[in-house]
Amino acid sequence: MTIAVLGGAGYIGSHTVAQLVKAGEDVVVLDNLITGHERAIDKKARFYQGDIRDYHFLSQVFSTEKIDAIIHFAAFSIVPESMQDPLKYFDNNTGGMITLLEAMKQFGIDKIVFSSTAATYGEPKQIPIKESDPQVPTNPYGESKLAMEKIIKWADVAYGIHFVALRYFNVAGAMPDGSIGEDHHPETHLIPIILQAAAGTRDNLQIFGDDYPTKDGTNVRDYVHVVDLADAHILALNYLRAGNASDAFNIGSATGFSNLEILNAARKVTGQAIPAKIGPRRPGDPSTLIAASDKARSVLGWKPQFDDVEKIIGDAWNWHENHPEGFGDRQ
Ligand code: UDP
Repeated sequence: MTIAVLGGAGYIGSHTVAQLVKAGEDVVVLDNLITGHERAIDKKARFYQGDIRDYHFLSQVFSTEKIDAIIHFAAFSIVPESMQDPLKYFDNNTGGMITLLEAMKQFGIDKIVFSSTAATYGEPKQIPIKESDPQVPTNPYGESKLAMEKIIKWADVAYGIHFVALRYFNVAGAMPDGSIGEDHHPETHLIPIILQAAAGTRDNLQIFGDDYPTKDGTNVRDYVHVVDLADAHILALNYLRAGNASDAFNIGSATGFSNLEILNAARKVTGQAIPAKIGPRRPGDPSTLIAASDKARSVLGWKPQFDDVEKIIGDAWNWHENHPEGFGDRQ
């Protein structure tokens, strides 16, 4: 039986494909390559290029391959872009999920692990955030993912499609052997942007806002190494294979770092001065997001190996220094 990884050419998807292959799984990747990179896909996985909103494409792949379960990453994930173009997010993320569930129902595929996000919580009432806390997104990205969670819940009730929603906090880092890493164009995430500034390929690094109610006034986020996040998907897959009930889990380290702390850690790891200015707040940003992640640890048995922000930044820096052009496939 085969695992279909949707969005397996993307940043988190490609790391998960590599970890699945290492675990001995047979893997197919479906990706439209809008933001993904074919070169990021492990050579042992079979690749089908197409869009998850295309029912015909999904049904072709699902009739060719014998799919046991889906791991679904194929979504847009940039908060500021979602504020400017919410329909793009509802179409691909929420709409894409509906098409995918239709195809899963048709082909009798009854297990899915998918990417949700801490952005579904919005501005939390308490820290750390528990899975049972209210979900009130402050941006369309989070809203599009919350809608996915709600839709799948009813698909489980009606059609018996079992799911695990993994609510990611902030992911960073790269494969420790340097084989794959993060390559977004344009890059919007804090750690790779700081590393571009460290490498001298970006100036005008700005920290967005220093008047939040946090320890130093800058936003606080919870960082997870991409390989630990990838491994959480494999645990979730095995949880579903064991016949357990559908559920949602936070995947975070349970430790918060402010944007200035991340900047200082990157200065230490890279040995570069990394000039930065304080800019205005970025619309849609909650002040602090820190996960309570004991549920993933106790129920899924998740045990992050790289629970150290300097290791996370170090692996990202190793990738960035050796691949300043990312996968080198930019038009
Ligand atoms: N951030 C920043 N400067 C940048 C990019 C991001 O200060 O050039 C901040 C952003 O406002 C947020 C944090 O870094 O407080 C993490 O943002 P990112 O986009 O990496 O992830 P998000 O939390 O939005 O998923």
